[in-house]
Amino acid sequence: MNKIKLNAAHDHDACIRSALTRAESLCQKRGVRLTRLRKKILELIWQSHSPLGAYDLMDLLQASSDRERVAPPTVYRSLDFLLENDLIHKVHSLNAFVGCNNPLHKHSDALFICSNCGFTDEVHSATIQQAINLSASQNRFSVKSQVLEVLGLCENCR
Ligand SMILES: [Zn+2]
Ligand SMILES: [Zn+2]
Ligand SMILES: [Zn+2]
Repeated sequence: MNKIKLNAAHDHDACIRSALTRAESLCQKRGVRLTRLRKKILELIWQSHSPLGAYDLMDLLQASSDRERVAPPTVYRSLDFLLENDLIHKVHSLNAFVGCNNPLHKHSDALFICSNCGFTDEVHSATIQQAINLSASQNRFSVKSQVLEVLGLCENCR
């Protein structure tokens, strides 16, 4: 798979640029609007590979050069838009959001979250998916969505 090896020294500006370009072309293809605010929020979330909570996001928005007051419901609506379009993931265990590195992939795999630095990596694994499917069918359970968050230490923090 085209998994990029990320480490402390990687060119993160390139990550941000490609995430924003990807988001623009995806929204265009889907005929949905990546408004200035939605794009700004996506960019703030992509600031790092660590999940960002909604309140941190609002602080950052206000501190950003635009200096505009954005009401919390507006921020939440933008987050919903980004979630619906698979541009970000909600990290349920941290109640925070992280950028998706592969919005076209069927979202079914695991997030590996470093409990020390917050680095969150999205792992696409056929093995994990097969295990969930098998287990679901053994339990006559039909899977609608799944959240798999694994906490531990990243390569740099081990
Ligand atoms: Zn990066
Ligand atoms: Zn993803
Ligand atoms: Zn770490």
